[in-house]
Amino acid sequence: MDPRLILVSNRLPVTVRVKDGRATVRQSVGGLSSGLRAPHERSGGLWVGWPGGLDGLDQDARRDVDRQLEKLRTVPIQLDALEVAVFYERISNAVLWPICHDRIDRLPLRVDGWDVYESVNARYADAVAEHYRPGDVIWVHDYQLLRVPALLRQRIPEARIGFFLHIPFPNPEIFFTLPTRHSLVEGVMGADLVGFQTRRFLGHFRAALRRLFSLEASVESVVPWGGRQVRLGVFPIGVDAADFSRRAETSAVKAKVVEYRAPGQRLLVGVDRLDYTKGIPRRLLAVERLLTVHPEWRERVRLIQVAVPSRDRVDAYRRIRREVDALVGRINGAFATPTWTPIHYIYRSVPSDVLLALYRAADVMLVTPLRDGMNLVAKEFAASRVDEEGVLVLSEFAGAAEELPDALLVNPYDVDGTAEEIHRALTMEGAVRQRRMRALRATVLEHDVHRWSTSILDMLVAGA
Ligand code: UDP
Repeated sequence: MDPRLILVSNRLPVTVRVKDGRATVRQSVGGLSSGLRAPHERSGGLWVGWPGGLDGLDQDARRDVDRQLEKLRTVPIQLDALEVAVFYERISNAVLWPICHDRIDRLPLRVDGWDVYESVNARYADAVAEHYRPGDVIWVHDYQLLRVPALLRQRIPEARIGFFLHIPFPNPEIFFTLPTRHSLVEGVMGADLVGFQTRRFLGHFRAALRRLFSLEASVESVVPWGGRQVRLGVFPIGVDAADFSRRAETSAVKAKVVEYRAPGQRLLVGVDRLDYTKGIPRRLLAVERLLTVHPEWRERVRLIQVAVPSRDRVDAYRRIRREVDALVGRINGAFATPTWTPIHYIYRSVPSDVLLALYRAADVMLVTPLRDGMNLVAKEFAASRVDEEGVLVLSEFAGAAEELPDALLVNPYDVDGTAEEIHRALTMEGAVRQRRMRALRATVLEHDVHRWSTSILDMLVAGA
C-alpha cells in the first residue's frame, strides 16, 4: 500500500470566500493541485498550508471554515498581518523571487525580516510534526518554505522528506548576495530528495554546495549530508495535458474561437501573470518593431495580451503595471486605425473557457519570459492544440525551453530578433507548423503533471 502523503505548500489548494460573515471553502482547480490532488486523495494524506486571509469572520464562522478544511484533509496554517507582510510579501516575493529570477535590480535597498521567514517556516514544520505518523512521506514545495526540510529533520530525524523548487535556482554569484545563503541551502538539504525543474538549475545548486560547503555531488547527484545521503534530481513539471485536450474540444470553447478570429486577421496571444519576469514590455516592443519593419502586418495582425493581476502590494509590481499600461497606450496610439487596434490588453484573470479559446485561436503564442522556472502556459497551449496548428514562440530562458526544442526559441532581451521570429512564425509553411506542433504535443502529453508527481513520489518511497 502507498504510504500516507503529507503535502506542504505555502498556500492550500483552496479558496475561502467570505460573504456576509459566512464562508465557503472550495478546492481550487489547476496549478499545483492538478498533479497532487490524486496522490493526496489516494494515500488518504494531508495537505498543510495557508488558506489565505480569513479576516471578517467571527468565531462561529471560523470554526465552520476549520471544519470544512478538515473535511478536505487540509491543515491550515494561520498567518497574521505582520507575517503576511514580512514572510510572504517581503522575503518570499520581494527578495527570494527576484533573486531566483536574476533580478537583483528589483531588490529593496534594505531587507529585514529573515527572523519572521524562519519562524513561519518553523510553524509549518511544527504542524507537520504534530500530524506525522511513522511511515508517512512528506513533500515540501517551493521557495517560501526553503527552511522547512531542515526544521522537519530536527523534529522527525527518521522522516522521508522530499523538496521541490518550482522556480529557478539562480547562478551562485547571484544567490550569494543573500545574507542567509548558508541557512537556505542547509534548509533544503534537510530533505532526502531535492527536485529542480531543469538541469541548469540543478547545476547552479550543485555549484552553490561546492562553494559554500566544499561538497561535491556524485555522478548520480547524491550528496553526503549530516550522516545521510541526499539525492538531487531534475523533474520538469508538466500540465494535465489530457484534460486540456479534452476541454479544448467543447462546443463553448469552439464557439469562442470563431468569435476571436477576425476574418483576414492573424492573432498573437500572450497570457501571463503581470510579473516583471514575464518579459511583457519587451514583448510589446517586439510587436511594435514587427509593425515597423514589416508594415504589411498593420491591420492584419493583433496581439491579445492577458495580464493577470499579481502581488500588487509589492512595489516592483506596481511599477511594472504602470510600465505596461504606458507601453500599450503608446503603441496603440501610434498604430491604431478607426477599425483596428494592435494590442488588445486585458488586465484581469479570464475564465477557463476563455483561456482555452485564446490558446486555440492563436496563430502564434508568445511566451517570452526573461527567466521562468518552467512556464505552464507554453505547455497548456500545446496541450490545447488538438488541431495541431499554431506556433509557439518561446524564450530560451524559460525552463520549458529545455524540453521543447520544436518551439521557435528566442532571446527575449533581443527585441529585434524576437520581432523577426514572430514574423517567421506568421509566415511559416503549414506542413512545418504542423510537424512542430505534433512534436510539442507528443512531449507535453507524455510528460504530463501526473507523470511528474508519480516519478518524484516513486523515488521518494523507493529511497525508504
Ligand atoms: N492562468 C489562470 N488564469 C488566467 C490566466 C492564466 O489561472 O486568467 C493560469 C494558467 O492556466 C497557468 C498559470 O496561470 O496554469 C500560470 O502558470 P505559469 O507557470 O505560466 O506562470 P506562473 O504564474 O506560475 O509564474
